Amino acid sequence: MHKKNLVSGMRPTGELHIGHYLGVLRNWVELQNSSKYNCFFFVADWHSLTTKYERTEDLQKNIIEVTRDFVASGLDPQKSTIYVQSAIPEIAELHLLLSMVTPNNWAERDPTLKDLVRALAHGKTSEQDVQNENGILSYGMLGYPILQTSDILTFRASLVPVGKDQVAHIEISRDIARRFNNIFGCDFFPEPKALLTETPTVKGTDGGKMSKSFNNDIKISAGEEETLKQVKSMITDSQRIKKSDPGSTERCEVPFPYYKIFADNQQVERVKRECESAVRGCFDCKKQLAEIMNDRFKEIRIRRKSFNDDEILNILKEGNEIARIKAQNNLKEVRKIIKLHNWN
Ligand code: ATP
Ligand code: MG
Repeated sequence: MHKKNLVSGMRPTGELHIGHYLGVLRNWVELQNSSKYNCFFFVADWHSLTTKYERTEDLQKNIIEVTRDFVASGLDPQKSTIYVQSAIPEIAELHLLLSMVTPNNWAERDPTLKDLVRALAHGKTSEQDVQNENGILSYGMLGYPILQTSDILTFRASLVPVGKDQVAHIEISRDIARRFNNIFGCDFFPEPKALLTETPTVKGTDGGKMSKSFNNDIKISAGEEETLKQVKSMITDSQRIKKSDPGSTERCEVPFPYYKIFADNQQVERVKRECESAVRGCFDCKKQLAEIMNDRFKEIRIRRKSFNDDEILNILKEGNEIARIKAQNNLKEVRKIIKLHNWN
């Protein structure tokens, strides 16, 4: 049977957090292990330049750390192609070609971009503004959704496992794929679909979306102490002042939703009962949650330490080669469709 292609990536802007893990990465591992798809997973270094082009000193280190998070979480270079975006120049070529057929206002309607434009006009109000300290909307940032479309379509992928914030981007990708096929009278590109997990938006310790730019995250690589510290800082039920006040798991902002993610049903029921009858205080509740989380990430954290930098680089080099060949073959077809000459 013909397997569908699946593509997704992460920006190397720092080590990955459990939002990345629960929202995306664990799904990648499941999809990979289902053997139903040709899986392509990449480190999106060009994408990190859209907001951090002046601060590239950590870029190479971050590429290694993100890849380490990938393999520690269970991505297997024997089963998935793991590569770096900038090692595949065909992605940039397709970006250019797709930019010719994409109406400007499709890029401008992108919600992330709208947030950025608003933030630039009104001061530091959004995640993007915190990330973009340069105070300008660059041509590259405007082209972000088209570059992302090229990431997907260079590999003719029809499935894109991402977090919820990415769904609007994939919609633009679908529109661009359809437009290309219509203009050139072909059905070369599939219209890609987003695949979400049960936790498409993981909350950070402050109750907002977990993000490395908000300092509300818990890294996959965090030690036990660091995890405990971050769990202790989670906001709970703002109406519960003393332990003797009965709590409400409905109002509990972060720890209870986390129990629902990490603990079994019986444990969740117990937390609810004990919280609402004021038997369990937030302090002990958080301590127990940190233990459950540390337990869950123990193996991944040990595995993280088992790869040295050279091993990680080799995984990327091998993945780059495989990805490059696929990309070259597909771009040859694209040039033919557009009636550009294949010079090489
Ligand atoms: P951060 O939000 O921490 O700055 P990022 O947005 O820079 O991370 P990306 O590389 O843009 O990270 O996103 C990688 C993937 O992780 C995307 O599919 C995104 O939807 C997903 N993701 C990021 N944060 C979360 C979260 N809190 N919950 C669920 N998915 C998330
Ligand atoms: Mg993002």
